[in-house]
Amino acid sequence: EELEKYANYDTLTRLLNRRSMDNYLQAAYRQAKTGRASFCLLMADIDDFKKVNDTYGHDCGDEVLKYVAQTITTGVKKNDNVFRWGGEEICILLNTDEEKAVAAAERIRKEIYRDPVIYRNKTQVSVTSTIGVSPYRDGMTIQTMMDDADAKLYWGKHHGKNQVVSVLPKEPKPLPKEKKAKNE
Ligand code: GH3
Ligand code: MG
Ligand code: MG
Repeated sequence: EELEKYANYDTLTRLLNRRSMDNYLQAAYRQAKTGRASFCLLMADIDDFKKVNDTYGHDCGDEVLKYVAQTITTGVKKNDNVFRWGGEEICILLNTDEEKAVAAAERIRKEIYRDPVIYRNKTQVSVTSTIGVSPYRDGMTIQTMMDDADAKLYWGKHHGKNQVVSVLPKEPKPLPKEKKAKNE
């Protein structure tokens, strides 16, 4: 049992690790697909984390990572699951509908942002995060949900960070080529 625990958890953050994610994802996905439960996939990423490492050192970065992981874990329900997806990227599976998932993401974002991390009793490090929310919709696969969450996260990173993105704004349509040519 102990061994299994070690195999499934990330030692730094104590979150579930990426390797363990597949089972949880597939279970949540099946439930959603058969209409038994709602399900949203969230991708959260710490903003300017490299700067934290560069400015205060890798140890401080680790503390920030732990703080974010802890804040997210505290901010979700017991049945939800939180995974360390990559370096400073955290994947969250919420057993709830879009509206409640967006509200939860917004709550978590604010909570992360509210207080600075106090490193070694003296250094104040402010921390923000960007979160992409992908609600399950008919016809989606786990992969398209991942891509959707990622695209929203990416959009948020390029539009000011420290925000929750649940809808991708439509890009303005480019002018038709012929029209452009006439004006020139
Ligand atoms: P963005 O706002 O676009 O997310 O920028 P960023 O700086 O957060 O992102 P970037 O991908 O450039 O940098 C991520 C950094 O996270 C680089 C890597 O060294 C650091 N990192 C990854 N894992 C760990 C870890 O376990 N501990 C620490 N301290 N740093 C880590
Ligand atoms: Mg980052
Ligand atoms: Mg990242």
